[in-house]
Amino acid sequence: MDQCSQPGLLAVEAALERILNQLAPVQETETVALADALDRVLAQTVMAPINVPAGDNSAMDGYALRAADCSGASAVTLRVIGQSLAGHPYAGELCAGEAVRIMTGGLLPVGADAVVMQENTLRVGDEVKINQPPVTGENIRRAGEDITLGTQLLPAGQFVTGLDIGLLASVGCASVNVLRKLRIALLTTGDELLLPGMAPQLGKIYDSNRPLLTALLQRLPVELLDLGIIPDDPHALRAAFTTASQWADVVISTGGVSVGDADYTKDVLAELGAIDFWKIAMKPGKPFAFGRLGEGWFFGLPGNPVSTAVTYHQLVVPALRHLAGEQLFAAASIIAQAVAPLKKQPGRMDFQRGLLTNEQGANRVISVGSQSSGVLSSMAKANCYICLERERGSVAAGEWVNVMPFDKFIR
Ligand code: AMP
Ligand code: MG
Repeated sequence: MDQCSQPGLLAVEAALERILNQLAPVQETETVALADALDRVLAQTVMAPINVPAGDNSAMDGYALRAADCSGASAVTLRVIGQSLAGHPYAGELCAGEAVRIMTGGLLPVGADAVVMQENTLRVGDEVKINQPPVTGENIRRAGEDITLGTQLLPAGQFVTGLDIGLLASVGCASVNVLRKLRIALLTTGDELLLPGMAPQLGKIYDSNRPLLTALLQRLPVELLDLGIIPDDPHALRAAFTTASQWADVVISTGGVSVGDADYTKDVLAELGAIDFWKIAMKPGKPFAFGRLGEGWFFGLPGNPVSTAVTYHQLVVPALRHLAGEQLFAAASIIAQAVAPLKKQPGRMDFQRGLLTNEQGANRVISVGSQSSGVLSSMAKANCYICLERERGSVAAGEWVNVMPFDKFIR
């Protein structure tokens, strides 16, 4: 029987649900400087401690005035009594017949209720002629228009982005309360693995999974313990998993979970933890292990580099984000037209690697070539998954398919 139509395969969504249901987010918090808050998860809702802008100010370079002074039929001339620059407000009060030279961001002087832009005026000495009168409120940014004092700025559980850092800075926050980082232990298994930098050897391959995962894990709030390459040897595996589980919230390993060579890993893990070996209805990435290891959790990813990358992204990333305390939303997917046919057998959900482009307003997607789970070079060229539903068969050119653009967690 074809493996793809095996009964008992676990749907991807069901696997993820089982994982998320078991993981309780971390609770411990710490305060970090704003500059260190990128990619951390907010422990508390942040309320705005001030209005932004703090006071009414000018949106233009021009003159602050009283709109009523300009309401007559003909152009009016006002006396310029001073200036209001960003950071240097005008100290006095503006009265009838007067104007204050004002620059963008300059505080609106007391008594003024509009700003006329410079282009609509003519300055002569200490007088200014208003050629096009402004209406009340024109070119004024109101206090609290951007952020209102006391309202929610960012919710608890928010993954802090660069934009959020800007937002927090705009209300004067110098530090934020975040959830602690996850402790992740990472190891790869296999007698065939060489460290990059070593001379090539017959029958050996370079360990690409650990550098790949180490790099991608930097996108998440984690502290990483790198346990290196562990040989296919029960003693070495037991020692590594024991060390890892004593420290880590999550232990991630690659290799050794497929049917052929899983025995040592499986036996050792059975001694140390309560781990399920799942056959997930996804391609790539059918063999996958998840469960308890000591006080923490264990993810065993298939060894083929593309399978490692895809299962990490589809299952481990959401799990880690949830565990790190993030309020998760389903990833956006879009539809695109397949430029060329796509081969698929019903039975598993395919995450084919594709190249998404937009031609004259239409989304188009094409396979990046080899969809073999060992061919990392084609995945590295991709910018999206072509997500083909479990029961779907091959796709003809021109058919519409769901596409999930790669996000930063896989790039
Ligand atoms: P396994 O799951 O251990 O049976 O490995 C499946 C395939 O992935 C084999 O061809 C391995 O050589 C390869 N593989 C396993 N671990 C790695 C790794 N860390 N880097 C690159 N390839 C790997
Ligand atoms: Mg192996």
